[in-house]
Amino acid sequence: MWGGRVQVLFRLWGLRSAGVPGRRLLSCSAASEKGSSSLRCWNCGGPGGPGPGDGFFCQQCRALQPPDPTRDYFSLMDCNRSFRVDTTKLQNRFQQLQRLVHPDFFSQRSQTEKDFSEKHSTIVNDAYKTLLAPLSRGLYLLKLHGVEIPEGTDSEMDSQFLMEIMEINEKLAEAQSEAAVKEIESTVQAKQKECTDNVSRAFEQDDFEKAKEILTKMKYFSNVEEKIKLKKIPSN
Ligand SMILES: [Zn+2]
Repeated sequence: MWGGRVQVLFRLWGLRSAGVPGRRLLSCSAASEKGSSSLRCWNCGGPGGPGPGDGFFCQQCRALQPPDPTRDYFSLMDCNRSFRVDTTKLQNRFQQLQRLVHPDFFSQRSQTEKDFSEKHSTIVNDAYKTLLAPLSRGLYLLKLHGVEIPEGTDSEMDSQFLMEIMEINEKLAEAQSEAAVKEIESTVQAKQKECTDNVSRAFEQDDFEKAKEILTKMKYFSNVEEKIKLKKIPSN
């Protein structure tokens, strides 16, 4: 009997807006490791392949090459394709790539290279954001394994979990003090931590259905976290 009410409420809460950066995914194929080695330079026609700057530049004329659409975010960010990511290493790689492709460094170059640097920058930013946050990283990894979470799957969630979320949301709506909001925030953070540990284990065991189930819950908690953020902004 709760099902109907819960579903309606979730529609109202707009779960769709759950913050997941970097939704645009690069296609992933078996060629991802090979990259653009078979392509020729757009500028001088020279052979592609690993050149200076991690294959971003032509070995002969050093012109910036277009992004490789077959390269996935893990490969681009030099991370193992796994849920466990070394965030310090990820950050270093992000800075390294930014120093290579940032549009500021191409202001004196051809329009083609300017355009490529814009595209590279966008992809590098997306890749970094996607792999940094556990939820988006998990969803991306799941997608690489061919599993996607469709929007609006509330009906598949167990009602006990939906009730738990509903109660947290009600508490948040009623919270009158900063301390009350803080308390809810730490509850949700603890839940997210627990989910992150569990999803990590599920990926280690190649249990993608389990990972999917936990990530779906994380989307709900993430939605609550967004609301907490809004509530914290002073309304005057
Ligand atoms: Zn060239």
